[in-house]
Amino acid sequence: MSLLKHYDAVIIGGGIGGLMCAYRLSEKRPDLKVLILERGKDLENRKCPILTGAVTKCVKCKTCAIMEGMAGAGAFSDGKYNITTEYGGWLPRVMNEKKVMDYILQADAILMEHGAQKEVYEPDNELKTLCLQHDLHMQQGRVKHLGTDANYHTMLRLIDTLKQRVEIETEAIVTDVDKKNLEVIYTKNGSEQRVSGEKVIFAVGRIGNRMFEKWCDDNGIRRHNNQVDIGVRVELPYEVWKHFSSRIYEPKIINRSAHYGDRVRMFCFNERGHVVTENSDGVLTVNGHSYKEEEKKSKNSNFALLCSTNFTEPFDAPVEYARDIAALANKISGGYVLVQRLGDLMLGKRTTEHRLLAGTVRPTLDAVPGDLSLCMPKRQLDGIVETLQRLDSVAPGTANYDTLLYGVECKYYSARPDVTDFELNDAKNIYALGDGAGFTRSLSQAAANGLIVADILLNRAEQ
Ligand SMILES: Cc1cc2nc3c(=O)[nH]c(=O)nc-3n(C[C@H](O)[C@H](O)[C@H](O)COP(=O)(O)OP(=O)(O)OC[C@H]3O[C@@H](n4cnc5c(N)ncnc54)[C@H](O)[C@@H]3O)c2cc1C
Repeated sequence: MSLLKHYDAVIIGGGIGGLMCAYRLSEKRPDLKVLILERGKDLENRKCPILTGAVTKCVKCKTCAIMEGMAGAGAFSDGKYNITTEYGGWLPRVMNEKKVMDYILQADAILMEHGAQKEVYEPDNELKTLCLQHDLHMQQGRVKHLGTDANYHTMLRLIDTLKQRVEIETEAIVTDVDKKNLEVIYTKNGSEQRVSGEKVIFAVGRIGNRMFEKWCDDNGIRRHNNQVDIGVRVELPYEVWKHFSSRIYEPKIINRSAHYGDRVRMFCFNERGHVVTENSDGVLTVNGHSYKEEEKKSKNSNFALLCSTNFTEPFDAPVEYARDIAALANKISGGYVLVQRLGDLMLGKRTTEHRLLAGTVRPTLDAVPGDLSLCMPKRQLDGIVETLQRLDSVAPGTANYDTLLYGVECKYYSARPDVTDFELNDAKNIYALGDGAGFTRSLSQAAANGLIVADILLNRAEQ
């Protein structure tokens, strides 16, 4: 008989997907033994030295407090909760769209029980029309702005509830799962440990994507993906987009680039926010935050502007492609991220410290002034400049000389494994969900995915 500690479900990853899965399992079946293994720290101990003010530049901590730890990548996010199936992931491609929406609302209800706000921004057809008049396509959806600070407290309460119902091991890095006997191998405090589960669920997020992909390859699980989004974080005075943000909070606008026909999208809008760095396994990229508390707000808004690239055969490593571009940006900025004024970029000039100071937009991130054209492919950069100029027609001021572009921002989507009801084909009783498995790319769909997988497990247990 095995001496390993045995669980009904072992969930790898304490992000919103894993947490919601554990929540539903323990809510419906309190008798089940559920374990969450999380490689990062407890939420209270996740302290990014930039956010605490200890340093101004990313010092590449061994575990990135922004990406890893209880509550996952969403812990310090701006907390935009999308109540729509139009964007935020691919769940509607693998299951009924109405069901997905129902689960998004169920997850929202759980978050509200733990203190999340009730107010919702509704879509606005007038603004959509304005965009269409300039050949820009605005995605419509209801959205809640939870706020980085308020979202953090909601997640703390949710984790507190879970701590009474399930076991949670933090700083436990899962290195392997034995497909046959469902043993989960992880390291904690430098020593290797093992547990076993009736069911094992990969909920590893983007940070765990490399490990999951390798595991799939080693275990003969087929995966599919060839898309990657590469671009910049745009920062400008908040007044420029106020007529949009005051009505819908987040403009999500798509432009089809004239020359290449690529999809360039504006999203992840942070009103009066801050640009931040993200450390993905040693490569620094950029992202954005915004707080609800007035004293924490800046004078700028920021948003992602990313160009989607879909590769065709024979190339099948889009994540590596994005990482290489981001790594090049790190290299030419002396190990950090770049910032450039749009006007300088268009004139073929490097932004220098002096030129940055001469600009009217004060950067919220202490990035290295430089030249994005030295590290970003022409195709993506052309698409970004063209889209900024087009966005300027619906929000004049977007393409001002001093608009700041930080690089590189990339969103890579994990390759999606072959599954049946989220159970991996060829790996019985092993499931995958959320961003790390390429099903989602938002808090709401990842949360919904956690609940969906839990319900599938519970239904199967009843049969
Ligand atoms: C800065 C930032 C801002 C964002 N803002 C928004 C927003 O406003 N709205 C929105 O909808 N989305 C936002 N997102 C995206 C959103 O956070 C993700 O879509 C969501 O968190 C995905 O949930 P998940 O549970 O799938 O993965 P994650 O939240 O990434 O959680 C996965 C967890 O698994 C852990 N893990 C990984 N590998 C292992 C391993 N080997 N062993 C043990 N544990 C492991 C990780 O440490 C992590 O905690 C933002 C993301 C970032 C980084």
